Amino acid sequence: MSAQSGSRRSAAPPARGRWLIRGARPLGEPPTDILIEGALITGMAASGRGGRELAAGGDVTMLDASDLIALPGLVDLHTHLREPGREDAETVASGTAAAALGGYTAVHAMANTEPVADTAGVVEQVWRLGRQAGYCDVCPVGAVTAGLDGSQLAELGAMADSAARVRVFSDDGRCVSDATLMRRALEYVKAFDGVIAQHAQEPRLTQGAQVNEGEMSARLGLAGWPAVAEEAIIARDCLLAAHVGSALHVCHVSTAGSVEIIRWAKSKGWRVTAEVTPHHLLLTDELTASYDPVFKVNPPLRTAADVAALRAGLADGTIDCVATDHAPHPAESKETEWSEAAFGMTGLETALRVVHEAMVSTGLLDWSSVANRMSVRPAAIGRLSDIAAEQGDMRHGCPVAAGSPANLVLYDPQPIRQVDPAAHASRSRNSPFAGLKLPGQVIATFLRGTPSVLDGRLAS
Ligand SMILES: [Zn+2]
Repeated sequence: MSAQSGSRRSAAPPARGRWLIRGARPLGEPPTDILIEGALITGMAASGRGGRELAAGGDVTMLDASDLIALPGLVDLHTHLREPGREDAETVASGTAAAALGGYTAVHAMANTEPVADTAGVVEQVWRLGRQAGYCDVCPVGAVTAGLDGSQLAELGAMADSAARVRVFSDDGRCVSDATLMRRALEYVKAFDGVIAQHAQEPRLTQGAQVNEGEMSARLGLAGWPAVAEEAIIARDCLLAAHVGSALHVCHVSTAGSVEIIRWAKSKGWRVTAEVTPHHLLLTDELTASYDPVFKVNPPLRTAADVAALRAGLADGTIDCVATDHAPHPAESKETEWSEAAFGMTGLETALRVVHEAMVSTGLLDWSSVANRMSVRPAAIGRLSDIAAEQGDMRHGCPVAAGSPANLVLYDPQPIRQVDPAAHASRSRNSPFAGLKLPGQVIATFLRGTPSVLDGRLAS
């Protein structure tokens, strides 16, 4: 990757120091040279002349980034890292390596571990493991209810005050279905500007549910998962958030009706945000006809009409951001019959490519909007763009500009390659995109000026 050889293949030292990234296209704009010194971007200039002046004075490692798109480091609001407890599926180290390879510099780790992340002790453990691994920042999500059992609030204040500085709380995997508990959680987090991220699934309407309720569930003879089970909870929670003046985030929106409800809540000025997964932007319930449990996920894959509505909602900003819901599972949990198999799909290493395919190639988003939906907005929702985050050295979602932390991804939009889960850094292989031809490749990821990925491989 050095200018000396002019090749991206030559190895550069994976050390923090001074880097001159030459000819990158920030947010798809014209070629620009970007100087990184220490943890910060310290200078930018149009490619051609400026770079030489930028790099004046002292050792600098050159990186040829011609034709690569530079985006702020991606932020995932919804990752399952599985540690502690299910290290056979993923660890903080393997999951954050996967994240870095996908262009992420921060991930929010969901609380449904064993033990559950419902105390200051567990969230601090996960946060420390993230720091030790060093591939990307790990922001633990705290459980809303103790043990995720839906009956008693967890120690929200203690988790917020801990070293992990938890601001996002979720029982994800389960719905906080008790309206009184949901109201109390929303009220509680106002004291420290927290947000409740809801997994919207009315439990009684989805007992035994396996696939989207509709034509496919009838054809396959599997129990249907009605859209209303998601939409009813979202509507209720929007009303509750408005009633108590608190912040609600809706996880993995999957139906056209959900998009409509969120659009309505936002039109009222309520503090409601939402995410959509890459798989719900690209895949439909037609795939379940194969009975291959790699396509089994919660919420389920929906219809083409839902996919179109989710894409439109992400394009117009009704849905704030893309979140992976990366849910690794060991082979034995997936290589079984449909009704026995675990729900969930991996997604960190393919998310940007899937968004490229579903949103950029279709003309629905430009690269600036991709940066907004995959970095700026999720960082804001996860409270990583405020002053407290800056003091903790954890600021993400900043512009690609001088003065910003050097959290960056360099992405080559040109290659089109088959997805091969065997080559993934994740410990699990349950990618629904296996064998699919997708555009693009993450070439490099920088976390506070240190490359975590170079030449498309882990830097250390
Ligand atoms: Zn969920």
